[in-house]
Parts: sequence; structure tokens; C-alpha cells
Amino acid sequence: MRICGKKSSGNVTLPKLPAPQRRSAIVPFPVPHDDGSNSELPINSKEESDEDLIREAIERNDFLNKIISGKRLDDVINAMYNKEISAKDTVIKQGEKGSHMYISAKGTYQILIKNKVVNEFSDVRVFGELALLYNAKRLATIKALTPGRVWVLDRNVYQQITVGYNIKKQDEIMQFLMNNERLKVVGKEALQEVSGLLKSEFFKAGTQIVRQGDKGNKFYIISAGTVTITKDGEGVVGVYKKGDCFGELALLKEDCRQATVTADAPGVECLTLTRKQFVDHFGDIKEWEYINVRPQDSFKDGVTEHEDIDLRDLKIIKTLGVGGFGRVELVQHKKKSDLVFALKYLKKIDIVMQHQQEHVYNEKNIQMACKSPFIVRLYRTYKDNKYIYLLMESCLGGDLWSLLQKQKLRRFDEKEARFIAACVLESFDYLHSRGIIYRDLKPENLLIAANGYIKLTDFGFAKKISSRGKTFTFAGTPEYVAPEIVLNRGHDRSVDYWAFGAFIFELLTGRTPFRTDDSSHMKTYNKILSGIDNVPFPSYVNLKARHIVEKLCRPVPSERLGMQKPGIKSIKDHKWFLGFDWLKFAKCEMPSPFKPKLKSPIDTQYFDPFKKDNDIPPDELSGWDTQF
Ligand code: AMP
Repeated sequence: MRICGKKSSGNVTLPKLPAPQRRSAIVPFPVPHDDGSNSELPINSKEESDEDLIREAIERNDFLNKIISGKRLDDVINAMYNKEISAKDTVIKQGEKGSHMYISAKGTYQILIKNKVVNEFSDVRVFGELALLYNAKRLATIKALTPGRVWVLDRNVYQQITVGYNIKKQDEIMQFLMNNERLKVVGKEALQEVSGLLKSEFFKAGTQIVRQGDKGNKFYIISAGTVTITKDGEGVVGVYKKGDCFGELALLKEDCRQATVTADAPGVECLTLTRKQFVDHFGDIKEWEYINVRPQDSFKDGVTEHEDIDLRDLKIIKTLGVGGFGRVELVQHKKKSDLVFALKYLKKIDIVMQHQQEHVYNEKNIQMACKSPFIVRLYRTYKDNKYIYLLMESCLGGDLWSLLQKQKLRRFDEKEARFIAACVLESFDYLHSRGIIYRDLKPENLLIAANGYIKLTDFGFAKKISSRGKTFTFAGTPEYVAPEIVLNRGHDRSVDYWAFGAFIFELLTGRTPFRTDDSSHMKTYNKILSGIDNVPFPSYVNLKARHIVEKLCRPVPSERLGMQKPGIKSIKDHKWFLGFDWLKFAKCEMPSPFKPKLKSPIDTQYFDPFKKDNDIPPDELSGWDTQF
């Protein structure tokens, strides 16, 4: 088996992995302090040797050293607390949900899976680190063999550190930008976008960052240290410090630098932005002026259809699928047989137990308001003591995940992949222009309609965010989450473009670029943080396809294709879509390669059989569901 590295085009196959299974999303848990409030961090003072022990353990851990560094590492070290362990204590238990990460400082511990000892350790090491990201089930039991001692970090505190840090950093950059007399005229919204484009650069003492007379194409904000400004014939004319900006003119035009700027000792850290990036994002503005950032379309409730249908009017034909919280049945109107729907019903008790009320409301409110040929229609909802019901358009061609598994090579050819990707792109265009991010793209959430077009469904993680806003909750399916979600940096619609890149790769190869054999997903997150440039592409993926994937899966969100001034149009215009008739497609006039051969409006040949659900849930009467 050969794997190609960077840009190689040899005869490449991907490594063998277990047969794919439908992938579950991570059930999101509210993130504390995502408004930047309550930022008082706990401090548990400790010996220097203990601080060193924690620091080394974190730096040695392949995953943690990517997500915790710099000031955040100091905060984590300060916040960790000591716990004495007695022999035979169970520190973490397989199957239980965890909210703490540990570092062993003393003692010997056994690792057990299904009560069988699989290993033992006495060294200093991190364990249970996935709990920092979300409420994950422990995959093994860790039991003390001898008395010992561990250092503990709570997820809440970790999230307070990372979210608080990122919000503070963002606020600080905004302050820098707003304090600049020239820049502030472009308006707060545009500056918020500028802040997302900035990159951090370090200049050693003595470096001439810009030189008088040179052509300038970069703008700088000093985030640490000082610089000295000199002019030919005049000598030193000033010293700039943290928060000061220079080179703003370079954003407007390629102009000659008016002075030389030199980094003072011990060096300077700057946030920088190139003219090209600025122009890509805002267009070529000639003078400082208010920049009108892209307005969002209004998001009115969709036209109400089938509002008069009562649950009692419907009879169940067959189960179409089973999801995380319930089932989906094909139902038919008892009197008007041409009225056929998919009825999804969710167990209320499960929703409440897993704190998913808000997400179910999202699903209802967002999906019901969407009216696009690329999104499954949700007509109305019902409720009773046990269930919430969603009455949806039925898509009898089955789901894309099943279709992918049925392909001879377990992947689509390029033409098919392009058609599917175009459907998704149209659905994203519809959602993003209304300020909605989707956050759970994967073949499992796409259905094939009778006309062969692919439609997006499952809006549990969709969220409306303000035009420049960010959200912090860990949401999505591990193989598809963007690095800023793993890093808790706050995210926006650019996570959908990242996922779209991973999705195109999956359509063409049968797996996402970040898939691993690790059921805990730690290796997957590591791969995501290592980036697309370290992912081998099989040789049958051509350069255009590779290029679009690489452009979508950029680690810096603002650099992803789709995030520049033309928005999603720049994805549609990518050469991978060259010759694709978007106008014909948007009107659903392009023949689909996936048109199902349905014999009747209740033909379920594209769905697997499902056993009856005999589990009748208890009543749930707390009243959270009044608006269903
Ligand atoms: P969900 O709970 O939404 O993940 O749905 C579980 C499964 O039910 C899906 O994978 C589909 O196979 C099927 N399904 C869901 N919604 C529909 C629909 N509107 N039309 C046809 N099948 C559906």
C-alpha cells in the first residue's frame, strides 16, 4: 500500500479502515461564559515542581499541545487542582460521561476495558482529555492500584479559559482598530471582519519591518513590543507601541512607504493584513469610507402549507429511518391519498434528559421557515404527552449515505459528485444569505427527492447568528468539524465551507480527509488540527478537485473559499465547477444522475427495513414544548 504525500500524483490508495457506519453528531452542551462574562479564573497555587510536571505532561500530549499554549497554558496550570487517590479508587469509569481531565502525578493505575485489564501505567501522563471538549462517554476505566495523586482540570474552567481568552483577544483587536482615526470610518461591522483576517507575525529586534521608498502592500497593528519610526534626513520621528497601527495606506493603494519602521528589542509582535486579502474581502476601495458589509436577506416564515392536517388524518405506511431521538415514518392522508409525508417523531423524555430543547426548537423554527428546492420542507409540528412530531416532505430516493455505500467503488464519479455538491452549495447559499449556519453537513443528512435532487435535512444544530457574530458551542460530527470548533475559538458560517471541503473529498473517495480508526475521535481532532496539507489525496482525485478541497479546508476561517467579497459565488466559480450550468440547475432543469425509479408515491424500495419500536417512553409534561 502506498500513500502519497504533498502534491504527489503517484499510484495512491488510502489506508484500509473499518467499514463505515452512520456517524453521530456530538450532542452539544451549552458553553459557559460565551458572552465573556464571569471571567474570574480559579487559581490553585502550587509548588514550582508541580507546575513543571503539569506543563511537561501537557506539552508532551500530542492533542493538548495543539489546543493549550502560551497564556492559556499558564491559566490551565494555575487552575488545576490536586486530588489524593486511594488504592482501588476508580478515577474514571467506562461508559460514564466525563467532565474532567487528569494528569497522574503519583501512583500506579490500571486501564480496563469492559472490566478487563488492558494496560497499566505509573508515569506522569494526561488522561480523560476528550472531556475538555464536550460531554463524552469514557472509553475505558482508570483504577488506582496504589495510593496516588492526580491533577484535575474541569471542563467548565477550561472553556472559561479558552472562550474568555478568545473573546478578550477579539475585543482588544477591535479596540486597536476603532482607535485608529482613519480606519474607524469604515464602521464597526467592517472592522469586525478585518479582525478575522489578521495574522500574527513576529519580527526580531532590528528587523526593518517596512522601508522608506519601498512599495507597501501590508498593514500592521502592534500587539506586543515597540517599533522606531525613522525618516531619511530627519532621523527618529517617533516610537509606536502596542495598539498603534502603521501602513493603513497600503490597504487602499500600492503606495511607497513614507518612513522606515524598525522592530525594537526584544522583538515585536504584529497583527498583519495584506492588501490582496483586504481587496478580496471588501473590494477595491480608493478612500477610507464606510463599508457596507453584506446585508442578510429577511428570514420570513415560509408559506404555511398543510396546516389543516391533523395527526389523526394520517396513517403510517412504513418506517423510513431511525435517528438519534426517534423515528421517521412514511405517512399518508387517510382521505386524500396523494398527500404523503415523512413524519418524524422524537421522544420528549430523551430531549429533556439530554438538554436538547433549544436544538429541537432550532430545528422547528429554522427548517419551517426555509423554502428552497434544496432543503427538505417542514410543514408543521404536533405534540402529545410523549412525543414531538415534525410533518415533512417525503424524499423517497433514500439518503445519500446509503447511496454512497451502494456505489461499486464506494465513491461517486466526478460528475455525480459535482451534482451533489452543487445541491449542497445551493442550500448553503439559501441559509447563509439569511444568517443561518448549518453545522452538520454529512451524507447522512442529505435525502434524495423524487426528481433526483439532493435536499438538506436535520436542522438540530443550525443556528441564526448576527451578521458578524460568532458562536462557541461544540456542534457537529467529529470528522467534519472545523479546527476553530476543536480549539474553542468561536465560529461562524466558515465552518460550513470547511465541512463542504471535507464533504467533496468524501464524495470522491468514500471517506472524509480526517477519518481515522479511533472511536474516541482524538486522532480525528489531531488530524483536523494538522490540516489538509498533511492529508494524502488518492491519485484518481484530479488537481481541480484537490484544489477546491484545499481552498475550502484552510485552517484560517477567513481564508476559506466563500469567505471573500463574492461570498459563495467564488465557490460556484471555482474551476472544479467549470461549465456547470448554475442557472439551469437552480431551476431544477438539469437532469439528475440520481432520479429514483419510484413505482408509486408510497414506494419505499430505497429504505432498509426497520424493526418496530416497542419502547414506549414515559410521559414528559414539564411544558417546554408549548410552541410545538
Ligand atoms: P433523522 O432522524 O432525521 O436522522 O432521520 C433518520 C432517517 O430517516 C434518515 O437517515 C432517512 O433515511 C429517513 N428520513 C428522514 N427524513 C426523511 C424524509 N423527509 N423523507 C424520507 N426519509 C427520511
